[in-house]
Amino acid sequence: MNKIDVEKIRKDFSIFEYQKLTYLDSAATSLTPDCVVDSMSDYYKKYRSSVHRGNYKLGQKASSTFDEARQTIGEYFSCAKEEIIFTKSTTSSLNLIAHTLEEKLDINSEIIVTNLEHHSNFLPWKILSDKVGCKLVIVKAKNKQISSDQVLDHITDNTKIIAIHHVSNVIGNEVDIAKITNISNSKGIISVIDGAQAAPHQEINFQKLNCHFYTISAHKMFGPTGLGILYINQNIQRNLAPLEYGGGMVEPSTVDYEKSTFKTGVEKFEAGTPSIAEVIGFGQAIKYIKKLGIKNIQQHEESLKKYAVQEFEKISDKIVMYNEKFKSGILIFNIKNVSVHDAVSESMISNVTFDSQNIAIRDGQHCNNLTMKHVLKTKAVLRASFSIYNDKKDIDMLVNQIKKIYKIWN
Ligand code: PMP
Repeated sequence: MNKIDVEKIRKDFSIFEYQKLTYLDSAATSLTPDCVVDSMSDYYKKYRSSVHRGNYKLGQKASSTFDEARQTIGEYFSCAKEEIIFTKSTTSSLNLIAHTLEEKLDINSEIIVTNLEHHSNFLPWKILSDKVGCKLVIVKAKNKQISSDQVLDHITDNTKIIAIHHVSNVIGNEVDIAKITNISNSKGIISVIDGAQAAPHQEINFQKLNCHFYTISAHKMFGPTGLGILYINQNIQRNLAPLEYGGGMVEPSTVDYEKSTFKTGVEKFEAGTPSIAEVIGFGQAIKYIKKLGIKNIQQHEESLKKYAVQEFEKISDKIVMYNEKFKSGILIFNIKNVSVHDAVSESMISNVTFDSQNIAIRDGQHCNNLTMKHVLKTKAVLRASFSIYNDKKDIDMLVNQIKKIYKIWN
């Protein structure tokens, strides 16, 4: 039985009151429930102040609400709150990690990535390997996915870092991370997992994944923009240089011309004033997810994907599907003889588009040209991604519009 009541859930999202909307772009950014917006608004309206700085009531209220959010987030992901670091985004986290790991590499080192990585988990490693002069090993997808065995087969005595997606943002395939870390940890290899597309849709337990770093974007998990969740395993924190330098991460009285002493724990990795409202908002988003149940969310999204594939198969003469065999709630496709751009938004030639029906769907390379060029061997694809506020009617709308767009161009 489906435990997600879409009609009820849609009432939690005011955006649906402002327009008729078929929102099928949650893999890019999810919508935000009112409870998250309200929690941030409360902070701004009622107790706006900095955290861990002012010794006055307002500051203490902000600090305790901020700290509670970190606790909620840590508990949700089965790790210590001291392992949850706040950054700007997944992109920012991955860049900071690559930057800070530079000192662990030399010319003989090897970094493993794959050709299913988002640009955010390819470019920082490409730039780093060029800078150090070491080898970037690219594992190539087989049957549009990366198996853990394939990754393990690429490990050599020189492998220092494995940087890999948990779930791809284009194909929606999942990599067995625990199977990789089980071996890579025993060889002293640092594991960096891009979890941007996994965390919003499945249970994430950092103890079980046993990786060193894991990155998440709050805005893909019903949270605000401008906040990245970076898990750093406590075992590696001690041997890691700070990610950034500035206020809050240093023992203030030690800062001098010659030398400064850095703090330990999360403070070492969070220089400057954090994204206070965003952290509070994300704490609320986690409570919202917990209330619905992540397993129910996952089941709902997978059943929508199944229904979409079934309906798409009925119009297989009009479309090309690329990832029907993968369970996660991402469906990528093209309409035959129609460019993705013409399908999505109005042009001089046609106003029959997805946008004309308020269907929000993504087109393009999805920040993943490696997958586009080397795996799918196409220039661009359309991507529909499903979430808790979608139901079968949204998919029917999508299919109906595909038929109309196809007819105009064929
Ligand atoms: N990795 C993956 C797999 C993603 O899907 C995204 C977002 N599209 C990112 C990284 C980058 O996330 P952000 O834009 O929030 O930094």
